[in-house]
Amino acid sequence: MENCTNHPEIETDSVCHNCGKPYCQECLSEGGEYYYCKKPECQKAMKNELNSGLPMQINCPSCHFTIGINKNENMKKLVRCPECDSLINLAVDPPEIIKDKEYVQMLSSMNQGDLGIIKSMLDDGGIDYFVNGENFLIIDPLIQPARIMVRVDQLEEASEIIKNLNFHIFGVSSNQNDEEEE
Ligand SMILES: [Zn+2]
Ligand SMILES: [Zn+2]
Ligand SMILES: [Zn+2]
Repeated sequence: MENCTNHPEIETDSVCHNCGKPYCQECLSEGGEYYYCKKPECQKAMKNELNSGLPMQINCPSCHFTIGINKNENMKKLVRCPECDSLINLAVDPPEIIKDKEYVQMLSSMNQGDLGIIKSMLDDGGIDYFVNGENFLIIDPLIQPARIMVRVDQLEEASEIIKNLNFHIFGVSSNQNDEEEE
């Protein structure tokens, strides 16, 4: 047992996570995982810890449905409301609806394995995208291909990232080739 830095008469076994000094419960604030004392630099460290935490759920800005955010969605800063189908940008506070027309289909694939590869490449490249029809694919691959939608302003970048994939091997059809034959 040590004594609180501010209250020499109070014994405590808690320390500030940032400065490591002993403090009583009254002198500590609870961060996401740790406790911090009231010193400005330690409060700042606490804010950083809280901000780095995952917001596990948000309310849909459109229909107010409570949406659970998984780690992947949090990384992409993008989630689709299961209730009203709005696409929501988590990178801003408060989260905002993204108009679907700002996303365009980059490619479609019938193959779950291809999708996994493409998605991880897009993740690595920091591309904002979502997959349309992925659930159909799991239920019945023949109903419709999953379509990867990317943000209009990132389409070029995203195409660059995946252009090294061999589409013939992977059985992916590129949307652009469908429209304009070269
Ligand atoms: Zn401290
Ligand atoms: Zn104290
Ligand atoms: Zn909604």
